[in-house]
Amino acid sequence: MPEQETLLQIVNLKKHFPIVGGLLGRTAGVVKAVDGISFDIQRGETLGMVGESGCGKSTAGRAILHLHKPTGGQVFFEGNDLTQMNAEALRALRPKMQMIFQDPYATLNPRHSVKKIVGEPLIIHGLMKKGSPQLKERVAELLELVGMDPAYMRRFPHEFSGGQRQRIGIARALSLNPDFIVCDEPISALDVSIQAQVVNLMQDLQEKLGVAYLFIAHDLSMVKHISHRIVVMYLGKVMELAERNDLFDNPLHPYTQSLNSAVPVPNPKVERKRKRFILEGDPPSPANPPSGCVFHTRCPLTVEECIKVTPDFQEIYPGHFVACHLANQKGGSKIPERANPVMAGT
Ligand code: SF4
Repeated sequence: MPEQETLLQIVNLKKHFPIVGGLLGRTAGVVKAVDGISFDIQRGETLGMVGESGCGKSTAGRAILHLHKPTGGQVFFEGNDLTQMNAEALRALRPKMQMIFQDPYATLNPRHSVKKIVGEPLIIHGLMKKGSPQLKERVAELLELVGMDPAYMRRFPHEFSGGQRQRIGIARALSLNPDFIVCDEPISALDVSIQAQVVNLMQDLQEKLGVAYLFIAHDLSMVKHISHRIVVMYLGKVMELAERNDLFDNPLHPYTQSLNSAVPVPNPKVERKRKRFILEGDPPSPANPPSGCVFHTRCPLTVEECIKVTPDFQEIYPGHFVACHLANQKGGSKIPERANPVMAGT
C-alpha cells in the first residue's frame, strides 16, 4: 500500500438514468445505475472495483470523472468538489483524470496515426503545437514508456495486436501526466497470455509515475494482482471494501464469498477440496431493485430484516467495510457449507 494521502473522496455518489417511454416521451421511472456509493482513493493506489455486468461499475467510473453528470453526492479531487465546479474549472482539471477503455480498437480512430492519437490530448489542451518537434519527442517518449518502438508512431491502429492497441490507449491516457486513471475493464477483451503483460506494465507505470488507478473488472481474479484494496459492487451499491489480501482471506459479504469461491487456486489439491458458492438466478433490474438489502433475492442467508431494512455500510474492523446485517452479529455472515442450499461442490 502506498503512503496514505487521499486523492479522491467519493461521497454518496448517485447516477440515475430516466426511463423515457410512451408516445409523449414521459419519464416512466429511473434506472438506479449507481445508488449512493462512498469510498476514497489514495495517491498512487490501485483500487480494484468488481461486480457482475450491469452492477454500475462502469457508470461509477464515468460519474467520478464527470463524463456522466452525477444525480447526487459529491466527488472531491485533491479536496475540491467536482460536483460544484463549472465546465471551465472541470476542463482545467481534466488532464489530471483520464480513462482507459475496455476495447482500445473501438476508441482509437482507425484513420489517425499513432502519433495523432497519442499526441492529440496535448494539442487539445494547448500544451504543444501540431507538427512541432516537441510533440514528436513527447509521443516517442510515451511509446517507449509503454514498451513500444517510437518508430510505430507513423502506423495505424489496424496494424497492431489487441495488447499493442491497449498500450497505445495507455500512452494516450498518460500523455497529460494524470494523477488518476479510471481503467474500465482494460484487460477483459485481451487474450489471457496478454492480460498479465498489460497488468505488469500498468504496475510498472504506477511505480514510476505515482498514478492512482480505479481498476474495473467483472471478476476478482482480474484485480487480484494489481489492487491494493478492492471494492465489491452489486446493483449500484457497494457491498464490501477491504485491503486485497484481507478481502480474499476473510470475505465477509455473502456476495464476495461467492465471487471469491470462483477464483481458481493454483494448488490442485486445495482446488479439488474447495467448495463453490454458486448464486442462482440473474441480478434483479436496477430499474426495480429489491427492498431492504438489494442482495436478499439471491443471498442464502436472508432473514426477515434483510427484506425490510437496508444494511448500513459499516466498518467491521479497521479498513474492512461491509453492508450486511449479519456481519457484526453472532454467527456472522459466512455462508455455512452444510446449510447453503445453492452451494455446489467443485
Ligand atoms: Fe444476505 Fe441479509 Fe446480509 Fe443482505 S443483509 S447480504 S440478504 S444476510
